[in-house]
Amino acid sequence: MLARFLLWALLLFLVGRTIRRVLAGVAQGAAPPQPRAQRPSGPPATGELMARDPVCGTFVLPSRSTSMRDKSGTHYFCSDTCRQAYNGAPRPA
Ligand SMILES: [Zn+2]
Repeated sequence: MLARFLLWALLLFLVGRTIRRVLAGVAQGAAPPQPRAQRPSGPPATGELMARDPVCGTFVLPSRSTSMRDKSGTHYFCSDTCRQAYNGAPRPA
C-alpha cells in the first residue's frame, strides 16, 4: 500500500517537472531570436570547415587548432599532445 503511494508520488513529481520544463521551453521559443551580429565572441557562424584530428578523431576549427604540414598535406590537431602523438606514431605505408 505504501509502496503504491510512493510510486504515485514519484510519478506526479516527474510529470510536474516535465510540464514545467515544456512550458519553459515554449516561453523561450516565443521570445524573439537574438540577431547573430550581437554575439561578442564564439566560433564563426559560417564559412570555416571543420578539420578532423587524425589522432583522436575530434573535429576542430583550423583557425583554433594546432596544425602541422607533412608530405600528405596539412593536419589539424586538438592539442599539442595529439600533434606529438602523430609525430611519434609510425606512419602507415
Ligand atoms: Zn586530438
